Amino acid sequence: MVQLHDLKFTPFISEAEINVGIEKVAAQINADFENKTPVFLGVLNGAFLFAAEVIKRFKGDCEVNFVKLSSYEGTGTTGKVESLMGLTSSLKGRNVVVIEDIVDTGNTLESLDRILKSEEVNLYKIATLFYKPASYKKSLPIDYVGMEIPNDFIVGYGLDYDGLGRNLTQVYKLKNSKMTNIVLFGPPGAGKGTQAAVLKDHYNLKHISTGDVFRYNIKNETELGKLAKAYMDKGQLVPDSITIDMLKAEVRQSTEGNGFIFDGFPRTVAQAEALEEFLQEEGTQVNAMIALEVDDEILVERLLERGKTSGRPDDANELVIRKRIKVYYEETAILKQFYLKQDKYFGINGVGSIQEITARLKEAIDQLV
Ligand code: 5GP
Ligand code: MG
Repeated sequence: MVQLHDLKFTPFISEAEINVGIEKVAAQINADFENKTPVFLGVLNGAFLFAAEVIKRFKGDCEVNFVKLSSYEGTGTTGKVESLMGLTSSLKGRNVVVIEDIVDTGNTLESLDRILKSEEVNLYKIATLFYKPASYKKSLPIDYVGMEIPNDFIVGYGLDYDGLGRNLTQVYKLKNSKMTNIVLFGPPGAGKGTQAAVLKDHYNLKHISTGDVFRYNIKNETELGKLAKAYMDKGQLVPDSITIDMLKAEVRQSTEGNGFIFDGFPRTVAQAEALEEFLQEEGTQVNAMIALEVDDEILVERLLERGKTSGRPDDANELVIRKRIKVYYEETAILKQFYLKQDKYFGINGVGSIQEITARLKEAIDQLV
């Protein structure tokens, strides 16, 4: 995570991904302009790095020029494009390749189009490293695109937030500052699934159940799923690093929402630390471990009751049930200590009606948000 002025940004596009975009655009421009002695027209300030990379890769003769335009303030476009530094030599009759860092609404492109037409260029093409199709409102074609990105505000690799961040070698995006991440615990029969579903809707959180994530990856034969399955087929435990990578992919995929409910993870202190580290990279953290607390005898009674109708064999046998509850306490005792030390443990009385328990959970979570 990086902080620029008052805002926090999280890693979004790696140097390697940026390079793929650069190579793609450079190859297309080489193919189209190799013997046409183009004038590369970089649009300052943002495009200085991209322009350098593209121009370095150009194989034929070329000239280089820059214009400076501005339409942005803070994290929003002003709609008006100003020319702060105009052309210093005529482009009449020339083949021009405009090099932009990012095309957002297209206002900047429109004013460039006016400038180039009044210059009476022979032809011009537009190259941009980043393009936000969801935000683009013009009909001018964009000839070379490094990569399409969603409508997030990004910084790095030439792009700034109020002057800062242009020197970052990768791209970051503005962090959603009000994320709430909850680790939800509860012994079998405590009603965790029911409550997770209610909380998820109420707070607009994404429910990440490790079990579901595993099943999804294995079923769809993702790289991680295949790795995990190889361990499981040998009867071995899937290493934490694979589980964490699956969760990372899941978290990174969900750009909407106010945070996550983690269910079934972490199970060990090592996993809790890995989760902490990963969320920190994303500019966020675990806000609370919330555990539903229900007396053993009530759990046994509930599960035996459920076993009568659910057909789950592990719900039918009292000894098996008691063993599962015991394992739960053995496993989570250490995590309870881990989160207690950080003042993040909330034990919630899980006996009562669904609504009563939800109300207790909300009371705890409302303190966090
Ligand atoms: P447009 O005129 O296409 O709306 O926007 C073009 C200019 O807006 C870009 O040259 C850039 O200066 C700025 N801009 C648009 N989107 C972003 C963004 O996500 N991050 C940053 N830092 N600047 C942006
Ligand atoms: Mg620009």
